[in-house]
Amino acid sequence: MRAKKSLGQNFLQDEAIIDQIIALIRPDRAKNIIEIGPGTGALTDHLAQAGVPLSLIEFDRDLITPLEQRYGEKNHVTVYHQDALQLQLNHGPYLIVGNLPYNISSPLLIHLMKQSTHIERAVFMLQKELVQRICAEPGVKAFGRLSVMLQHRFDCYAALTVPPEAFKPIPKVDSQIIELIPKQSPTEVDLNSLEFVVKQAFAQRRKTIRNNLKKWFSDDTLSHIGIDPQQRPETISVKHYEQLAQHHHAHH
Ligand code: SAM
Repeated sequence: MRAKKSLGQNFLQDEAIIDQIIALIRPDRAKNIIEIGPGTGALTDHLAQAGVPLSLIEFDRDLITPLEQRYGEKNHVTVYHQDALQLQLNHGPYLIVGNLPYNISSPLLIHLMKQSTHIERAVFMLQKELVQRICAEPGVKAFGRLSVMLQHRFDCYAALTVPPEAFKPIPKVDSQIIELIPKQSPTEVDLNSLEFVVKQAFAQRRKTIRNNLKKWFSDDTLSHIGIDPQQRPETISVKHYEQLAQHHHAHH
């Protein structure tokens, strides 16, 4: 079957790498697993072996019948022809895994972050550059919107790097595994406010936080929170962004 670029299809080929990913996922320890984008089943075979309830979410209609033929007889595996961006979690907690389609990785991560209370753990393959951005600490260039949004809800860990040759077709970029563990008690923040504040704060990276947020925050408020108005957005901690969002929510 020909891989569809529009669906971000790069299928894992390298058995040694697949084994390493499965060792990280530890499917046998989960209670309920969701795989996003099972594709032709590179990870799925190993996941299904654990015998744990496994839901497969695949958007490519052409892959549904093959997946059903391969896994349909296993009572604990269910195939869903669905867009992962529409996924609504209402039980769980789930172990969510997947070699994600790179073209929808960011919106999908945000979509899942909003449902983190249903997630026990997540292990994803992403573009390496994206993993670096998500895991970045304040003060480094890669720190941005995605770092703040995901670190608000998850402890984020960068794991093994995977070279392009591990896939077919071979992608142009390096890949990396990321592990996300939901925080036990995340700071209570209205997520729309957090998204809004972070979007505005990073609207112009070269500008100070004062300039980016001047329509909504006075210097006094910034200082009161503990932010120097002269700071650049990428130097401000997740905790401070949460406080900005709380303030914004309370006053707008
Ligand atoms: N897991 C397989 C592997 O590792 O070889 C396939 C990974 S491939 C990078 C991404 C998979 O996600 C493809 O099977 C693709 O059809 C599927 N996909 C793309 N967009 C999707 C969406 N919106 N929802 C669910 N699956 C999607």
